[in-house]
Amino acid sequence: MNTQQLSEQYVATTYARFPITFTHGKGSLLWDDSGKEYIDLGSGIAVNTLGHADEAWANAVHAQLLNVAHTSNLYYTAPQAELAAALCTRTGMSRVFFSNSGAEANECMIKTARKWGAGRSTIVTLEGSFHGRTIATLTATGQPAMHGDFAPLPAGFKYAKPNDIIDLQSKLDETCCAVMMELVQGESGVLVLDKDYVQAVAALCKKHNMLLLIDEVQTGNGRCGTLYAWQQFGINPDIVSTAKGLAGGLPLGATMFATSTCDVLGHGSHGSTFGGNPACAAGALHVLNRLDDTLLADVQAKGEYIREKLQGLPGVKSISGMGLMIGVETVRPAKDIVVDCLAQGVAVLTAKDKVRLLPALNISMELLDKALAVLVDIVEA
Ligand code: PLP
Repeated sequence: MNTQQLSEQYVATTYARFPITFTHGKGSLLWDDSGKEYIDLGSGIAVNTLGHADEAWANAVHAQLLNVAHTSNLYYTAPQAELAAALCTRTGMSRVFFSNSGAEANECMIKTARKWGAGRSTIVTLEGSFHGRTIATLTATGQPAMHGDFAPLPAGFKYAKPNDIIDLQSKLDETCCAVMMELVQGESGVLVLDKDYVQAVAALCKKHNMLLLIDEVQTGNGRCGTLYAWQQFGINPDIVSTAKGLAGGLPLGATMFATSTCDVLGHGSHGSTFGGNPACAAGALHVLNRLDDTLLADVQAKGEYIREKLQGLPGVKSISGMGLMIGVETVRPAKDIVVDCLAQGVAVLTAKDKVRLLPALNISMELLDKALAVLVDIVEA
């Protein structure tokens, strides 16, 4: 059996896959098992921050693998400690808990808010949000269609309409301990929240002594043109979660605590076998070092460039997003555009009914131009 047949027979049927088997990549290029080349504008859904097979990143991980790949969190390791210090220095946050995924980073955020709330347990999230697939993060996800098969769901979540401060206010009561949101709702169609709304939510949290929890699993790690998107919103979150692009292709989640929450979780109140393991942490430390002001400015500039190329095309209804997290509402169905792009050697994603672009942050202008030319043709077909 070939890879696709093996996978169809033995891997759980949770994913509807395209009939493509990728074998290797380099930078923003990927090759399938027939030797066909693709320009990757999806980055494994915002994971491959520096593209594929980046040599310096691979060397940093490899060197750590040859030192010690894993020890357990019963002991100290330099990469984890240095990564936590670097994240705190670059964000002003105070402490970090490491896990392995976005859902886990959010679980930690939810647990911390509940413990901090000391009896107040309700967390308000936004309609259309996506926070993960574990039972608690699925419940936090404001998409009832995803909840159906998994009852009973944990109590203590309410949902408010995005960009509607009156609606949010109406959801608050004495049981609420926190508001949790993505600043750009990724899975829902790359919807950017209004800055005024986000600031009003932050003020409301302060007024009612509630925590502001920001899910930067997808928006973080340079994706939106600053290290974290909240740095463009003029707010000071109490907790920020991230994962995806943090380690550039290895599984790593991080939950970052401000001073307001940094000592809530004490010994034994949370943990993870693999979280922050030295190999993943070494990869993340390398990614973080590469995400300097020049690269972040490039992310902003390339994001603008993509918008300019697509804006105003008859086949494009609207464009949303920040930095290199872009949603394109097209006249043709997004799903058809993805299939046609793959046929022409360009890998793009969907987000609900939009085409979603999440290229590697260091994609070259040459490959970007080549991919955009294909996309424009297909959008206009
Ligand atoms: N939060 C957001 C905003 C996401 O986009 C995702 C994944 O798409 C998650 C959480 C869940 O992350 P993971 O799949 O790593 O558990």
